[in-house]
Amino acid sequence: MRFGSKLIHNGNEIDKNTGALSIPIYHASTYHQEDVDRPQEFDYSRSGNPTRKALEETIAILEGGDRGFAFSSGMAATSSVLSIFSSGDHIIVCEDVYGGTYRIGSGFFSRFNVEVTFVDASDLDAVRSAIRSNTKALFLETPSNPLLKITNIREAVKIAKERELITIIDNTFMSPYLQRPIELGIDIVIHSATKFIGGHSDVVAGLAVVKGRELAAKVYSVQNGFGAILGPQDSWLLLRGLKTLKVRLDYQQRNAQRLAEWLDSLPNVRQVFYPGISSHKDRDVHFSQADGAGAVLSFKTGDRNSAASFMKKIKMAAVAVSLGGVETIVSYPVKMSHASIPQNERERLGITDDLIRVSVGLEEMEDLMEDFQSSLVQD
Ligand SMILES: *Cc1c(COP(=O)(O)O)cnc(C)c1O
Repeated sequence: MRFGSKLIHNGNEIDKNTGALSIPIYHASTYHQEDVDRPQEFDYSRSGNPTRKALEETIAILEGGDRGFAFSSGMAATSSVLSIFSSGDHIIVCEDVYGGTYRIGSGFFSRFNVEVTFVDASDLDAVRSAIRSNTKALFLETPSNPLLKITNIREAVKIAKERELITIIDNTFMSPYLQRPIELGIDIVIHSATKFIGGHSDVVAGLAVVKGRELAAKVYSVQNGFGAILGPQDSWLLLRGLKTLKVRLDYQQRNAQRLAEWLDSLPNVRQVFYPGISSHKDRDVHFSQADGAGAVLSFKTGDRNSAASFMKKIKMAAVAVSLGGVETIVSYPVKMSHASIPQNERERLGITDDLIRVSVGLEEMEDLMEDFQSSLVQD
């Protein structure tokens, strides 16, 4: 079955008890046990809930993994996955990783003596030379945020396998529709399901999918023990959001491609970052591992004043952090998502004060381009 059909038919779309074409929201914390000597599938909802289970099975099928896990946020998914490691372990993380991942990697986990080194993972030699005797994992994110840098997943996996490192990837920007890292050898895929999977800016949630039963048992043990689970109502919202993932992304991606090409042609735009345009240096690598360029792009206006003026003038697009919803969202990384990174470090990474990030939504393109056009004109 092809991906778009799998979103609708994956074995978790019909309630087994009633035939309902929507999995019921099981608002239950606990379950009556018929016989204390015979354990039943569900006993307490931190350990397992039927609505969450339908979601977890669905995402495991879509990513091609053995087991899926739903968490209360993308960061809860990332933190829980990283909690399978122990004091004394070392993890290599790509340097332009999501801000929250940077924060827990550079602060939180170091308090438990899990060391993290940040490297430019698009430079595979840098990855190789960061490996130490106690390195246990490689954590990637591609395309990266906010500059859409590309890491070659197959090559990174090859390096990791030589040293028996666990490979983890944040696949939020692509979703399983456009990129399925487990098929490329990755062990654990993480999503902020708040973004494209939920798709409607109405839920905060995280997902993880694991390849390999032994590794999956470790993640389950953290999910159940640490307890950062997703509730049944939010699990249902993700099940619903997933059904339209392909049609939303097809349309949003088409819009993003048009917007990127148009911005790229404007004299008052300095540079556009989007893997779908020919000027992107790693376009070929990206398309060797993903089926599309996605719906997030960024661009540089040339100077701080023109970026500030754009952010003030833009009308139809929302000004917000987050991405992946039905509405177009623009954000200003230096003041919003990446404000916590020191200025000199930001500039080294290319996150300058004329950079604007766009998550392209489902509006009609002509309206969006009119909005952008008038916002790019400086008084
Ligand atoms: C938003 C985001 C996260 C964090 O997810 P939350 O659901 O906000 O906790 C992680 N990675 C990426 C790429 C994101 O965009």
